[in-house]
Amino acid sequence: MSPVTSPLQISSFVRDVPDFPKPGILFRDITPLLANAAAFGAAIEQFAAAVGPHRVSALVAIESRGFIFGAALAQKLGLPLLLVRKPGKLPRRTVSVSYELEYGTDRVEMHADEIVAGARYAVIDDVIATGGTAVAAAELVEKQGGTVVCCAFLIELDFLKGRERLGGRPVESLLHY
Ligand code: AMP
Repeated sequence: MSPVTSPLQISSFVRDVPDFPKPGILFRDITPLLANAAAFGAAIEQFAAAVGPHRVSALVAIESRGFIFGAALAQKLGLPLLLVRKPGKLPRRTVSVSYELEYGTDRVEMHADEIVAGARYAVIDDVIATGGTAVAAAELVEKQGGTVVCCAFLIELDFLKGRERLGGRPVESLLHY
């Protein structure tokens, strides 16, 4: 099989699933990319090229698909991997941030002893849609004194304007829809 190196080729491993998880949503399914070692490897190479120049101290990955890309990227870049999780999953003392959903609110947490004040961090997830989750993750880092110098995603859904919601925080996306 020929090497998969361009964004165009990576995009061919993202499957569109209409009306999931509810009517009207076009879900971008990344499982075919994970199921192809060359495509997954190419995606991690491109993540590394995008995040590397930001000279971060650690990666902050968002549950749950962000963990997949964050873990591989942390190993590739030789960086610590810090987890942003749904409430009640982390065993030690945590800090949390709440954010608005279409109906109601949700919350994300990090361990309270991981962020170093003044250090540089990258937030990692598979998809940025409205940006609500990524903003909450960035706020978790910032309320503990860290600086978010990069938010990196495999896929950016441009029409939902998540980039605007992230304010001036730099955004790196490998694919745009
Ligand atoms: P956001 O609206 O940016 O807070 O998106 C929250 C999470 O939902 C992201 O971490 C994505 O993994 C997931 N997500 C939202 N919309 C889609 C979509 N159309 N396809 C795949 N995943 C999505």
